[in-house]
Amino acid sequence: MTSLSPVLKQATGVVAARGEGALIFDEEGRRHLDFTAGIGVTSTGHCHPRVVAAAQEQVGKIIHAQYTTVMHRPLLDLTERMGEVLPAGLDRMFFANSGSEAVEAALRLVRQATGRPNVVVFHGGFHGRTVAAASMTTSGTRFRSGFSPLMPGVVVSPFPDPTHYGWSREEATRFALEQLDYTLQTISAPADTAAFVVEPVLGEGGYVPASTEFLAGLRERADRHGILLVLDEVQTGWGRTGKFWGHDHFDGRPDVLVTAKGLASGFPLSGIAASEELMAKAWPGSQGGTYGANAVACAAALATLDVIKDEGLVHNAAVRGEQLRAGLEQVASAHGRITDVRGLGLMLGCEFRDADGRPDGAAASAAQQEAARRGLLLLTCGAWGQVVRFIPALVVDDQLVDEALSVWEEAVAATS
Ligand code: PMP
Repeated sequence: MTSLSPVLKQATGVVAARGEGALIFDEEGRRHLDFTAGIGVTSTGHCHPRVVAAAQEQVGKIIHAQYTTVMHRPLLDLTERMGEVLPAGLDRMFFANSGSEAVEAALRLVRQATGRPNVVVFHGGFHGRTVAAASMTTSGTRFRSGFSPLMPGVVVSPFPDPTHYGWSREEATRFALEQLDYTLQTISAPADTAAFVVEPVLGEGGYVPASTEFLAGLRERADRHGILLVLDEVQTGWGRTGKFWGHDHFDGRPDVLVTAKGLASGFPLSGIAASEELMAKAWPGSQGGTYGANAVACAAALATLDVIKDEGLVHNAAVRGEQLRAGLEQVASAHGRITDVRGLGLMLGCEFRDADGRPDGAAASAAQQEAARRGLLLLTCGAWGQVVRFIPALVVDDQLVDEALSVWEEAVAATS
């Protein structure tokens, strides 16, 4: 009998039969609160009726047209409508399928545009699993080990992460910017540095928000040295953090914005946005792919955009995020092993530490598994798997948030 490769680690053991909003029903008909949203993908909830209708209608018209062979209407419309949400000046789009592909597209673009070989990434960042994206990923050796050599030309500099050093955000930011200057002085000269690539909130690395001063510091150094600033908004985009883009919290201005996950409510679609001038430096034909910008995925993305706007989902993410954070903080204060509740909007994490203050992946995993047994699906993140993260669909309501909090309280108590 054929079965799946054990390389796929199972976080919950649930076999989904159907999904509705922030709920999943398994094959035995059991109801689960889905606070994973397919790793932050199903922004409009599972099977939002308007997304389903748009996809069904498109399936009957054309499924695949291959964008370098034949264009299709959903791609043209989506490209135009991206202008409603993209930062000013980023008015050229390239679409692909996954976050990793989009990160690679950004990498190709910044190297071609600057003629420089290196990118500086920030420690703890996750940018994907393809070899180039894995080479830029420093959130855990499990994403890098055993298949070296990785791609050269990647230099790692510290992210402003107060959790590692017990510093304030300001101290962590100052350290990260000083280290970046040191990196540019000692490892990758500006003339060799094509781009800084950074997540506005470390995702897989532990749900650690950057800071306004850090992004401003990157912008200033980028402008000074002709280096491009690439923001990887794969996990932080499309309302997840309570603002449309994660960097909206920090006034950061990217040269290249990378997007995926929330943009098509579960259909594979990703993209990069940049200015006309910058995109013109990509060599024609050097980007592409058989499946990029699939017509059904683009139709779903158009419906996603409508739903996010019409249902005020960015605002809902901010309001429900505050409710969730307050409840998570209450649980944390009752249980000493959760030492930090952090994140933005509906991208929240609870960090577990042991009695000696060391990251405690075993305790986080025990609480996550216990929550799953009680019908609340969660994931972990962080270098040691020590952070339990909460990323429900942006349609989640106050009752489901309360219900999730009671299950979480029980799960943490049961595993204490
Ligand atoms: N960048 C970030 C910030 C991500 O969170 C992810 C996925 N977790 C990726 C890139 C890679 O996306 P994908 O898995 O679709 O290749």
